[in-house]
Amino acid sequence: MAAGEQFRAFAVTSRNLVEEARKAHRTSPIATAALGRTMSAALMMAYMLKGEDDLLTIQIDSDGPLKGIVVTADSRGGVKGYVKNPLVVLPAKDDGHLNVGAAVGKGTLTVIRDLDMKNTYTGQIDLHSGEIAEDITHYFAESEQIPSSVGLGVLINKDISVREAGGFIVQVMPFATDETVAKLEENLKNIPHVTDMMRDGAGPEDLLERALAGFDVEITDRRDVAFRCNCTRERTDRALLLLGEDELSELMMQKDGTSLQCQFCGKKYHYSPAQLLSLKEELVSQKIRKKETPDLPEAK
Ligand code: ZN
Repeated sequence: MAAGEQFRAFAVTSRNLVEEARKAHRTSPIATAALGRTMSAALMMAYMLKGEDDLLTIQIDSDGPLKGIVVTADSRGGVKGYVKNPLVVLPAKDDGHLNVGAAVGKGTLTVIRDLDMKNTYTGQIDLHSGEIAEDITHYFAESEQIPSSVGLGVLINKDISVREAGGFIVQVMPFATDETVAKLEENLKNIPHVTDMMRDGAGPEDLLERALAGFDVEITDRRDVAFRCNCTRERTDRALLLLGEDELSELMMQKDGTSLQCQFCGKKYHYSPAQLLSLKEELVSQKIRKKETPDLPEAK
């Protein structure tokens, strides 16, 4: 909180988890930057959720070579995600920054909130630049009517590992005075790029101190963040069962069986022909159980 709660602000440093995502998906530098920016934004936006099991998903569908990004974060600091084409390589921009906007291209940004394990709220905007931070800023303005400033950055080492990643979101509350907003705008106009601040050793508090320089800033909470996926073998079992008997029989014919890979974390689940057979038997026994249960007469 800052300026007597006229602003609320969030900041995150996410180098380790973006590096984990890079390794899991073997992303090119530009794909790592796009994914890392989106993961950082999703973590801060998921922090705004109230319920323990609430989820926030950012989905970008676009016509650039990256094809799209999907990231899901929970309100407890966990995040997972992937880009549809992790191997994109494009020339850098004139200022030396990765050209994430060109990799993303034109399309839509959708924010999906899953609340209380039952309600889903969706907001969608057209992408403005594909640079992610600017698009999230527009999302808040257009879809939620909250004036916001979003800064995101991912800095890549020469060996393509992640050197720094993170960002901030500052939001203006409706009762903020013109004077404080003007001062904030002045701050944000002069603030260095997030990657430059982090290269100089800035942590989350430092990012906020720069963005909110001259205001009283109160840090109300801190939280750990991590790359976390909730995929399990039970889930892939269910996915295979949905294929049906014929498809399972076909997969069984392959001597090495089959593998399913989690899109979000890259984890592989292998199924031998024998394991596929037992899944098929489960399907058959489900069918028999259904037949044996007589239909109850309809209530009048
Ligand atoms: Zn997974």
